[in-house]
Amino acid sequence: MEMLQDSFGRIHDYIRISVTDRCNLRCVYCMPEEGMEFAPHDQIMSYEEIAQVLKVLAPMGMRKVRLTGGEPLVRKDLHQLVSMISAIDGIDDIALTTNALLLDKQAQALKDAGLNRINISLDSLQASRFSMITRGGDVNKVLKGIEAATAVGLAPIKLNVVLMKGINDDEIKDFIAMTIDQPLHVRFIEYMPIGQASDSWRKSYLPLEAVTDVCAEAGWTVENTAGPAGNGPSRNMKIAGSQGTFGLIHPVSDHFCDNCNRLRLTADGHIKACLYWSDEYNVRRYVDAPDAMAALFLKALGTKPKNHEMALALERKMQSHTPTVRRMSQIGG
Ligand code: SAM
Ligand code: SF4
Repeated sequence: MEMLQDSFGRIHDYIRISVTDRCNLRCVYCMPEEGMEFAPHDQIMSYEEIAQVLKVLAPMGMRKVRLTGGEPLVRKDLHQLVSMISAIDGIDDIALTTNALLLDKQAQALKDAGLNRINISLDSLQASRFSMITRGGDVNKVLKGIEAATAVGLAPIKLNVVLMKGINDDEIKDFIAMTIDQPLHVRFIEYMPIGQASDSWRKSYLPLEAVTDVCAEAGWTVENTAGPAGNGPSRNMKIAGSQGTFGLIHPVSDHFCDNCNRLRLTADGHIKACLYWSDEYNVRRYVDAPDAMAALFLKALGTKPKNHEMALALERKMQSHTPTVRRMSQIGG
């Protein structure tokens, strides 16, 4: 069986699957407040179809799966999908990215079904600001979700914080302080221009040196560390003696494409070999034709560009391909 390798020799063993394009929030950097069009239910991959895809990919070297969205926990009985994936030979790591609003009631079932790890998105610890960024979310529900995930042993818990200039950059210190006496792994992420390189993105984009500046100002002794299991393209640090860690993910200012091992599957069944560009391939039509499906994945990998060019978008420079018009909620983040 041919391995999932692209034309630059990068082996792909990790897939991020968007299980729905719908969401119970409308975060300012991800979705417009109104007018978002969602795929009709019959265009969304069923759990059986997603499992079919993974049964084709596992013998080709796929090892890690992350379920995302939209908000994956709004999809009915997500734990059933987790169970189906757990039963596939070769897939040894199942993770979830969620806004955690619905997590407290589902954490145990997800853990029992075989979920290994969880990333929770949390961009502010202040109730009114969290509600502003998410357009209506309740931060206390997220904190309850974090508690529930901790209680059922879904460790390590990573918190994803998208940093935005003038919006939440004054909370960097508060987020890092959380890692001192809790085993939490905070990952600061640069705001990406997905589906729109607009003026509002340029205004809010913040390079992540801001985080190291805050540590220096606070007088914290910071050590480099390996970070938690399943660590992606993050540079990880910890305050000396702390239980948790924090990391920086610089997709815009310092792309990590050389080591990219990721494929993405959209909720409506399209393979995206790169999050940023518009290229995609409809795999759903081959759900009953495993050889054709495997060939399509290899084709998608064969055309995967060497890197994204988000930094050029920041400088309004010409790019080599066409950026996607899909929103992050449609691609799966
Ligand atoms: N709804 C879930 C959540 O929010 O965790 C999963 C889907 S969401 C699209 C996945 C991740 O993408 C979240 O951590 C979110 O913060 C991040 N994200 C969305 N839009 C982004 C952007 N423009 N730049 C950086 N990260 C973004
Ligand atoms: Fe929904 Fe996640 Fe996008 Fe926020 S980041 S709107 S929670 S999909």
